[in-house]
Amino acid sequence: MIWLDLSMFLVLLGLFFYVFASSSITVLHRIYLLLHIVFMVWPLCQFISQTSSTASYKMLYLTASYAGLSLLGVGWFVFIVFLTGQSYVVRKSRLFILSTPAILSVLAVVVNPNGLFLQINERLDPLKQLQHGPLYWLMIGQLILYLAVSVTIMVNKLMSDESERQRTLIKTAMNGMATLLLFSLADLTVNVFLIDYIARYVPLISAGMAFSAVYLAHAISRNKVFDIIQSVQRDVMNTMSMGVIVLDEHDTIIEVNKIMKKMIRLRIGDKFSAAVMAAHIKGLSPKELEEFLDEQRKRPLDRLEFELELELDKYRHVIVQSAPILNAKKQPVGRVLTFQDVTELRLLVEETNRQNVQLQDRYRDLLIMQDELFQANKKLETMAITDGLTGCYNRRYLLQQLEQEVVTNIRYRIPFSIFLFDLDYFKAVNDKFGHLAGDEVLCSTVDAVRSTLRMTDVLARYGGEEFTVYLPQTNREQAEWMAERVMEAVESNKVRTAPGENELSVTISMGVITIERFEPSDLEDPKAFLRELLAQADAALYEAKYSGRNRMVKRKLA
Ligand code: GH3
Ligand code: MG
Ligand code: MG
Repeated sequence: MIWLDLSMFLVLLGLFFYVFASSSITVLHRIYLLLHIVFMVWPLCQFISQTSSTASYKMLYLTASYAGLSLLGVGWFVFIVFLTGQSYVVRKSRLFILSTPAILSVLAVVVNPNGLFLQINERLDPLKQLQHGPLYWLMIGQLILYLAVSVTIMVNKLMSDESERQRTLIKTAMNGMATLLLFSLADLTVNVFLIDYIARYVPLISAGMAFSAVYLAHAISRNKVFDIIQSVQRDVMNTMSMGVIVLDEHDTIIEVNKIMKKMIRLRIGDKFSAAVMAAHIKGLSPKELEEFLDEQRKRPLDRLEFELELELDKYRHVIVQSAPILNAKKQPVGRVLTFQDVTELRLLVEETNRQNVQLQDRYRDLLIMQDELFQANKKLETMAITDGLTGCYNRRYLLQQLEQEVVTNIRYRIPFSIFLFDLDYFKAVNDKFGHLAGDEVLCSTVDAVRSTLRMTDVLARYGGEEFTVYLPQTNREQAEWMAERVMEAVESNKVRTAPGENELSVTISMGVITIERFEPSDLEDPKAFLRELLAQADAALYEAKYSGRNRMVKRKLA
């Protein structure tokens, strides 16, 4: 039945570890407490072993105490690593390798193969009954190894430029370790080497552990090692620009940060309610807040948000957020209410929107102006290439166009034709009917000519009452046919110069040039070629005039 007690002890121990692991304490807390437990194992088991007269139990307790001792080195090592802020050294993947010597040592203690770690020889004097084998010295070795590595880490950290706080912590740890080391050496000397002379067991390791633990506990509380996280958390809460209220599941206030306290005098332990809030904040409608809290009660797992517009010292726009606090099983155990003043942000957004609208207006004006400019440009462009009186192209445009077209036509051997025509006896029209009537005749004649031409033909005023037509992709036959059509159209076109006056019609004389054969040399100087072309057309026109007018003279460029 004695094993039942042990089992119960183990259950309690297991429970302790469960609470220990699941509570929200810092890693440094955990590591220190584990080290402390390791410290406690040795003196307790040593004590029990010496109160037991049965060899097998004595062996059991001794085994437990040595197993605890085996873990002391690794315990210190991990503690030092975390204390000096180098937790990356013992990442999960490395932890196993780093603790292998300690684990092997525990195995050696527990298995104790052939008494290679420890033997109890009951026939000897009680003080000399314990006989340590080579595995015992290996355990001592691994302890020294861990302690040496820990010292190296600490010395390195001290050498590097660390904060005053860090240095104090490291020195504390080093002192604790030195205390333990001194006592351990004394223990080894007294209880192993000098046992014959001293002739009594002196529990020096236990004393060392107790001293170093007392020292560490004192240093930890003096330097507030463990409080630092909490104080940082509190500092963060209190320096935040948003108000924070932490409530438990019954809406009791657990924490209020500084800025919130400034706004409303809420006390920790008070019940939080919309009415209390509304009593403190002018302009806050309790109904609105109550609705929000009701909503939160209905959806305890959701994060909710709503906006408040308040008239405090001045207009304020506040966003209230309510987030649930969940336990490990994802059940709500309270909630955090945050109050964030977004007035500036809101004003900024409004200002940005206003500027955006302005910008859009300006952009629209700009578009209109751009369109007007485009239209004006287009008009200007048209004016630059159009004859003001007749509306057909002007001479500049024609020559420009011809310069390009002629080159293409020569290169690809595309036949084309040019008409040059002049109104017959036009001076007489002017003289008889006046200049304005002459203008009317000019316009009307142009319209008549244009109606017979194709879309691709280019009609231009060459000067005075002389006009040119460029006919692309037009051979001799087609040109002749077109020329006849043009002349007929002009002749049959009746112009009434003024209301009541008789209608009159004019004729034209025309020079027609068709280019069907090309020489490669034509490309050498296209401008000269064009000049020659127009000269030939002019000559043909002159011939038509000379030989009686109202006719056409065809020429082909040799
Ligand atoms: P021809 O048959 O030999 O061509 O005889 P013509 O009278 O037409 O003689 P010419 O070509 O030398 O005369 C051109 C006349 O056209 C001279 C000028 O007064 C007139 N003219 C030139 N441009 C305009 C214009 O824009 N409007 C008007 N009304 N007359 C113009
Ligand atoms: Mg004329
Ligand atoms: Mg003329």
